[in-house]
Amino acid sequence: MTRRNLFSLLAAAGLASKTDAARETAPLRADIVPLRLTATQWRERLSPQAYAVLREEGTERPGSSPLNAEKRKGVFACAGCGLPLFTSEMKFDSGTGWPSFFTFIPGTLQTKTDYKIIYPRTEYHCAKCGGHQGHVFDDGPAPTGKRYCNNGVALKFIPKDGKA
Ligand SMILES: [Zn+2]
Repeated sequence: MTRRNLFSLLAAAGLASKTDAARETAPLRADIVPLRLTATQWRERLSPQAYAVLREEGTERPGSSPLNAEKRKGVFACAGCGLPLFTSEMKFDSGTGWPSFFTFIPGTLQTKTDYKIIYPRTEYHCAKCGGHQGHVFDDGPAPTGKRYCNNGVALKFIPKDGKA
């Protein structure tokens, strides 16, 4: 039996789709070692602006991040711990004034619901250090329909060519 035939059989049995569903839930990756620091240690590592967003769930002023206009190929990593969260291929211009992505590198983000502006919003944060990144909305482009509205100050861009 060829691989393709096996896959067709699994698909027919509903097994392949179950595997896909499991992948979508994006569990915490086994290779991500959590980084836990005290508030004092975080203050030493981060700028006051980055601390306010990452550790206190603040929101930067729209249009304030140079990453809004970043169009080079590369990776957007957590400014707190360096874990790569998004690639340049996942970025789109949302016109909101915040760097926006339609998906993320699997297993790197976790979500929770917050009520900071009365109605519930889905907050997301780095799976390694717990640093707040932004909020996810359902008005993004295809193929996911999601908009990960990210604070630029919570990210560090690493260009593919190695030149910062
Ligand atoms: Zn992090």
